Amino acid sequence: MTTAFFSHPECRFHDMGEGHPECPQRLDAIADHLLRTGLDIALEYHEAPLATTEQLSRAHASGYVGQVRDLMQQVQVSGRPRAIDPDTHVGKGTLQATLRAAGAAVAATDEVIGGRAHNAFCAVRPPGHHATRDQAMGFCIFNNVAIAARHALDVHGLQRVAIIDFDVHHGNGTEDIIANDERVLMASFFQHPLYPYSGGVPKGTNMVNVPVPPYTKGGEVREIIEEMWMPRLEAFRPEMVFISAGFDAHREDDLGQMGLVEADYQWITARIKGLAERHAQGRIVSCLEGGYNLDALARSVAAHLRVLADLE
Ligand SMILES: [Zn+2]
Repeated sequence: MTTAFFSHPECRFHDMGEGHPECPQRLDAIADHLLRTGLDIALEYHEAPLATTEQLSRAHASGYVGQVRDLMQQVQVSGRPRAIDPDTHVGKGTLQATLRAAGAAVAATDEVIGGRAHNAFCAVRPPGHHATRDQAMGFCIFNNVAIAARHALDVHGLQRVAIIDFDVHHGNGTEDIIANDERVLMASFFQHPLYPYSGGVPKGTNMVNVPVPPYTKGGEVREIIEEMWMPRLEAFRPEMVFISAGFDAHREDDLGQMGLVEADYQWITARIKGLAERHAQGRIVSCLEGGYNLDALARSVAAHLRVLADLE
């Protein structure tokens, strides 16, 4: 069985300008590192398809999907970038990139549920976990993971899926979309207080939110996972596991002040993989969220992939 790797060259076309941390070079750094380390040959490459409006609308208000698509189309034609949030800009390539990013998550879900891949990683941008049901924010426009989770539930008929978010920022968008959808259990830790300053009080009973102070290191995170995530996740018995894989809790990443290193991402991935093997036939779809120090991002993604591909 293989680990599928979904991406698309058009995910690079979304460009928010010089100096923006959520930059096209993030995907280059990952691809270069996989080649350099020879890890690329362990993965099965797939070009991400475009997500459809119907797929997007499983997680977003249809009015929002229409509005944002119209705006992105206008910008594509006029070539004049527009801000849809102080941190989030739409440029000429944004429409294609967002549709490929969400399309990757959906296609990866099909691949894994169809038994053609054991698990999958989506190297995509823009990220998604801050995008709420009807609002773009924090570099995110469509919520790739929530769209894929709803695809697994609504199209494939799964009854229980877990969403695990290890990005340094709270996945407020995912929480907004799936709060009180009892078919989903979301487990996360996040630095608090930090953008978007939410998550301290969970919006639903199906959330395991663990806010942690700045400078929290891997040892403490591992304890949190064992003591706070795992009992709930094991009892929930997910049929599939989605990961919002942000690597900005790395100690070299300047967007947060946490202290994780590659060995922690390796450990976390192995723990999630064990959970998926016990309950979900090993089915995991992991989607890139944050991670802005290019070197640390590339090394951390490789550590994550080595576990997914059974090389650790
Ligand atoms: Zn983040």
